Amino acid sequence: MSEPSFSLCVYCGSRPGAQPAYADAARAVGRWIGQRGGQLVYGGGRNGLMGLVADTTLQAGGRVVGVIPKALVEKEWAHHGCSELHVVDTMHERKRLMAERADAFLALPGGIGTFEEFFEVWTWRQLGYHDKPVGLLNVDGYYDGLLGFLRNSVQAQFMGEWQMDLMRVSPDVDALLPELVQSAGLAPESRLDEI
Ligand code: AMP
Repeated sequence: MSEPSFSLCVYCGSRPGAQPAYADAARAVGRWIGQRGGQLVYGGGRNGLMGLVADTTLQAGGRVVGVIPKALVEKEWAHHGCSELHVVDTMHERKRLMAERADAFLALPGGIGTFEEFFEVWTWRQLGYHDKPVGLLNVDGYYDGLLGFLRNSVQAQFMGEWQMDLMRVSPDVDALLPELVQSAGLAPESRLDEI
């Protein structure tokens, strides 16, 4: 396979969540990446939405880069079907490598692991540590409560609108993913004629 046309870092639940819509969205993201000759960068897990995004990306013809700390490999949580699986010593190394390998970042529904990763790349963006697009896939209103709280933070003047504007939010894979990849300066449609 030739060089991937873009590299999207996805953060998402290590569980499938209660609604079938979450798994459907994870599969749609994997298909979207794979069908465009893209590359998924993620936490290297085989469980929950993480495993689904990875499997679907591979099935659709994409590459998958998993980055997982050795402590999680010892718990047998790693996905050994990744195109590249990096086993690192610490969570910090994992997050650094994932961020380096990505052109853009996307969070799907998930729990505290997902929140922490998403907030970190958003914070790094507002501080100017990187200028890569950051997106939130608000599947089935999962993040409505969080978004309400963030608007509250703006009203309370602990955040500015400009910080909110640094993240893109949509419930729709086909709207959000092209926006992220294109604003990273890449053309996601470029491989469609090859598949
Ligand atoms: P959570 O949203 O709490 O399920 O955590 C998911 C995020 O934390 C993922 O994006 C991973 O980077 C990391 N993580 C948590 N649990 C696992 C696991 N079982 N296997 C691999 N990574 C995990």
